[in-house]
Amino acid sequence: MALPTLVLFRRDLRVADNPALTAAMQAGAAVALYVLDDHADGRPLGGAARWWLHHALVRLEAELAAIGVPLILRRGPQNAEALTVAAVIGTGGIYWNRRYTPWGVATDTALKAEAKAKDITAESFASSYLREPWEIKTKQGGWFKVFTPFYKASLALGEPSAPLPAPPRQRSWSPAFPADRLEDWGLLPTKPDWAAGLRETWPAEAGAARVRLAQFLDEGVQNYGTARNRPDLDGTSALSPYLAFGELSPHQVWHAARHTQAAEPSKVGGADAFLRELVWRDFSTNLLYHFPELGERPFQPKFEAFPWRNDPAALHAWQKGETGYPWNDAGMRQLWHMGWMHNRVRMGVASFLTKHLLLPWQAGEAWFWDTLVDADPAQNIANWQWVAGCGADAAPYFRIFNPITQGAKFDETGAYLKRWQPGAANYEPGAAGVAPIAGHREARETALKAYQSLTVKR
Ligand code: FAD
Repeated sequence: MALPTLVLFRRDLRVADNPALTAAMQAGAAVALYVLDDHADGRPLGGAARWWLHHALVRLEAELAAIGVPLILRRGPQNAEALTVAAVIGTGGIYWNRRYTPWGVATDTALKAEAKAKDITAESFASSYLREPWEIKTKQGGWFKVFTPFYKASLALGEPSAPLPAPPRQRSWSPAFPADRLEDWGLLPTKPDWAAGLRETWPAEAGAARVRLAQFLDEGVQNYGTARNRPDLDGTSALSPYLAFGELSPHQVWHAARHTQAAEPSKVGGADAFLRELVWRDFSTNLLYHFPELGERPFQPKFEAFPWRNDPAALHAWQKGETGYPWNDAGMRQLWHMGWMHNRVRMGVASFLTKHLLLPWQAGEAWFWDTLVDADPAQNIANWQWVAGCGADAAPYFRIFNPITQGAKFDETGAYLKRWQPGAANYEPGAAGVAPIAGHREARETALKAYQSLTVKR
């Protein structure tokens, strides 16, 4: 029998539409390896993402077992672990689906070289985005810094490739290898166990991602164009954690939506609006790939000099949903309970942090990193910079969301307020009995002055 190929799993925790896995099985047999590496995302996973990862790995193991592929778990630096496993079980090659973060690229490039030096074939594949960041180019051959032309250029390349089916079952075998036990990784919180809301929100069973996708295309997509801005409705797909961990691939989502459009013409507009968001996901990744400092530095250099404040008490109040503005506080409570927050409210709380409180976007990004089940390096960083006004194609800094009127406008039925701020009768500051930590008008003026000081200096 040919030597098995080792397949590295990272943020592509699925069996269908997994080109690295399919190629490995076509070459003979596959062994799957997941390495818990604190540097995989440039920093350790946050608490909510660790919770998600635990369940995603349980689901992955079951999916792999169904096609006869064993999953080995190891903890440590990815490359050292992969090469150790490769040496012990004897592999013909190491395959993976490509990553595009600066640290991911650096690690995987090093692995390619280290494997080659040991005469191990190393091959990588495209799978996690609709397009790879170098595929979409401006007419001059550069990369896009503005979304709309990026989107048009992406569409102009034609339909993204169709997803691969799950590979057929291979003869089961278990490599004799000292692997970790998932339970020993301590990914689930115990003391205290703060994950009750997450368990209530996200079904643990295998296939949950496909069920949610089918349900959304059945019931939600038709009105997505308008309902996507309404946190009081179940108007968006809530697929982000499945996409972030790769339990669904964007190609699967894209083609499922296309199929729905072909079968039900009334859903064409809604599905187009939905698919546009998937291209935003590509766009953020494109930004981080081409501007690898995006996590540390503002995309617009003039913001290097922005007079951000340092105010731990205000940051704490924002994190805990105690700003006294029901719109923000509802959002932060939703986040804490579900590990997810509606996009419209994410924009609102991020604007409040960076403009009303003048706290650096990195502080908010770090809190989201810890509390979101869909925390994703490129999406989180790019969106934070976008709201803070210092990112690529960003909302202009002077567009400051009004936390009072946003609530009234987008929570039309009041259901969102009722669920997450039951003590508040409306979105007025202090309506939930918590004194506002900043006056809206004064804060707005201070923020604008801070911004003007920046433009005057240059
Ligand atoms: P839908 O509206 O159903 O959209 C479908 C898919 O498109 C999403 O699942 C997501 O993969 C993608 N998408 C939607 N909106 C965006 C966007 N603005 N940018 C990039 N991709 C998008 N999204 C993350 O996946 N991870 C993050 O860490 C993250 N951090 C964010 C931080 C801030 C400050 C803001 C304003 C947004 C952030 N987003 C992040 C983007 C967006 O809020 C979520 O992707 C969306 O709310 C997920 O809900 P959904 O799956 O129902 O989205």
